[in-house]
Amino acid sequence: MKPPEPPGTNPHADKLEQQLHYPLGHTLPTPGTAVTVAPGVKWLRMGLPFALNHINLWLLRDEIDGQPGWSVVDCCISSEPAKAQWEQVFADELDSLPILRVIVTHMHPDHIGLAHWLCERWQVRLWISATDFGLARIGSQGPGGFSSDAAAAFFALHGLTDPNSLEKIRGRGSYFSTLVPAVPRQYRRLQDGDVLTIGGRAWLCISGYGHAPEHISLYCAELQVLIGGDMMLPRISTNVSVYDQEPESNPLRQFLDSIDKFKALPAQTLTLPAHGKPFTGLHARIQQLHDHHDERLLEVMQACTVKPCSAAELLPLLFKRALDLHQTTFAMGESIAHLHALWFEGRLQRRLGDDGVYRFGAGAGL
Ligand SMILES: [Zn+2]
Repeated sequence: MKPPEPPGTNPHADKLEQQLHYPLGHTLPTPGTAVTVAPGVKWLRMGLPFALNHINLWLLRDEIDGQPGWSVVDCCISSEPAKAQWEQVFADELDSLPILRVIVTHMHPDHIGLAHWLCERWQVRLWISATDFGLARIGSQGPGGFSSDAAAAFFALHGLTDPNSLEKIRGRGSYFSTLVPAVPRQYRRLQDGDVLTIGGRAWLCISGYGHAPEHISLYCAELQVLIGGDMMLPRISTNVSVYDQEPESNPLRQFLDSIDKFKALPAQTLTLPAHGKPFTGLHARIQQLHDHHDERLLEVMQACTVKPCSAAELLPLLFKRALDLHQTTFAMGESIAHLHALWFEGRLQRRLGDDGVYRFGAGAGL
């Protein structure tokens, strides 16, 4: 995800945002407190020590096996400040009732980091897709889980050849497991089309691809509320990246196809995003995201028609501002994603150069 700019600093984003509506205005929950956004649905917002500085989490009033309580949707990273915010929520926002289950939309650290702690503390089950459960379990094993050497080699193959940057990427082997030190050993599987009964209301699981392996959003028709996770954000566009574990993936196509599934939901649906504020204007936002990526694809196509380009060579075109190393790795993943979308369509071909770098071009120019 690109870090959000404050309103007023990006006129284009401001203009698009005017097509959306924020029913709660400028209301934001303060750390440790909740704001009710729909009957039985509470909004929590916790701080993150990143450029993207917060995540929204949700409390759903529930009852399981006759026991009243709450279901949690998403957890925040594993950190002492996050645990302290949760403790305040337990004390002030649960009406003296317990947490009954922990639902996680996908395996990224800001969503699953504290799942093990919440499940352990309340002795409850983690609910998540099988794919994201498996990958989070692998990542939480430490440097032996996700390979930072493989990540560096993959970025080098796509033109990130600066030895300094590659050395730093190789040194990040514990990045995931620092934020997600453990994942429960057991889970309850969520799949597309499953219907969960939460607090007597039906919530439909909607799978989404291209951002995480198998992201699950939740939709309640009775409330016309969509918990969109990272698949439907206002203002900022969801990160869509190719990763070294699946080096020939086409996540941009998967993402665009996935968000089209939300077109079947009513126009007045209140979307609860993982970042930013609850909004209406779902159908407009779907179109904006298509337009955004279509523009990027056109720019990439034009550049690669002039001369074959690597993903690294496209960074100044796709990202007009200076990037730190962390942002560069995200940007590389996105750049490869746009190249792969065109490659899968047959509009670009790729060649491995004598310098060991993939370049993508069109026609005779390659
Ligand atoms: Zn995510």
